[in-house]
Amino acid sequence: MTRPDAADCRAISDFDLSRRNSLGLAARARYGAFVHEAQEIDALARFAGEVGLPFVVLGGGSNVVLHPEIDAVVAVLATRGRAVTGEADGDLLVTAQAGEDWPDFVQWTVAQGFGGIENLAGIPGTVGAAPVQNIGAYGIELADRFHSLTAYDRAERHWRVFRREDCRFRYRQSVFKDDPGRFVITEVTLALPGEWRPILGYAGLDSLDETVDPKTIMERVLALRGSKLPDWRVLGNAGSFFHNPVVSGAVADTIPGAPRYPQPDGTVKLSAGWLIESCGLKGHRVGDAGVYEKHALIIVNHGRATAHDISALAETIKSAVFERFGVTLQQEPLEIR
Ligand SMILES: Cc1cc2nc3c(=O)[nH]c(=O)nc-3n(C[C@H](O)[C@H](O)[C@H](O)COP(=O)(O)OP(=O)(O)OC[C@H]3O[C@@H](n4cnc5c(N)ncnc54)[C@H](O)[C@@H]3O)c2cc1C
Repeated sequence: MTRPDAADCRAISDFDLSRRNSLGLAARARYGAFVHEAQEIDALARFAGEVGLPFVVLGGGSNVVLHPEIDAVVAVLATRGRAVTGEADGDLLVTAQAGEDWPDFVQWTVAQGFGGIENLAGIPGTVGAAPVQNIGAYGIELADRFHSLTAYDRAERHWRVFRREDCRFRYRQSVFKDDPGRFVITEVTLALPGEWRPILGYAGLDSLDETVDPKTIMERVLALRGSKLPDWRVLGNAGSFFHNPVVSGAVADTIPGAPRYPQPDGTVKLSAGWLIESCGLKGHRVGDAGVYEKHALIIVNHGRATAHDISALAETIKSAVFERFGVTLQQEPLEIR
């Protein structure tokens, strides 16, 4: 077997990622490449091994904190394609390549008249990253509509098909997050319900009528998101910066006034945003990294923030919440350095 070199796998040295992350951080990787064909992944991963650097996969860069100089080979998934691919148990199967833009994909399904993922409209990023943290919003998560995916297993160096039970989906977690960097997801198939019913339990959707169609729900979700979240193209951010912590009932009882979301196993999910706001941290800044004035769960880049500023602010927030409430916050975006 021949040794792949940078030219074989189209790796570019000193690869600029500054426009490939929603926090708007200036960042360059030792090597990087846009992957247009899934088959290019193996050569790129082997190249990383040959040059002794970690191999990192990036989609849209909307859930990462990029450090200025990334000592890695970064593969940016840019594969395209989406289609109706069949039926299973009365559900419609739709398949998309990893590099497809998730918001576009949702719009496409709705434009075809297919309901099922309209509540997940407007979540930035790619289709390939959606299973990684089991994206969720407005009452549903990816796992609810997931059928299967194809991924390249870098440890075993072969292609694998994952069914739902293989993915270990939990709240913003999956097997792909448990074992970061091992699997490169190249294609995702969703099962859209043959008998679609609107999911309207979430605040903001509950005023809609049961006869509503997927397009109206999607438009409402997009409007709600637009009213709450800063547009990352205008004010860099990575969406929610911390997971909502899940604690025991006894711990929740020690925090009077906190909104509580009881879980089926008796634990209680708390609002990380509420905890941060209660520490008086809205608007708090470290350099150009700041807690968003309108929503304490979001860290924004006011201009020239660095990964260092973001991390320092995140540490300040975690310490303040722990000291005040005894609750440990877990950061959502992955740091890539
Ligand atoms: C304004 C804003 C709002 C958001 N709202 C939500 C929300 O409502 N709900 C929610 O769940 N998330 C939300 N997010 C987070 C983010 O949109 C999702 O996590 C999204 O799935 C990230 O996609 P990406 O392509 O940008 O992933 P990236 O940021 O590029 O990567 C994220 C992680 O996935 C890995 N990865 C990426 N692609 C692949 C692949 N093909 N195979 C294997 N691993 C891969 C990366 O290595 C990294 O660890 C929001 C983010 C922003 C900026």
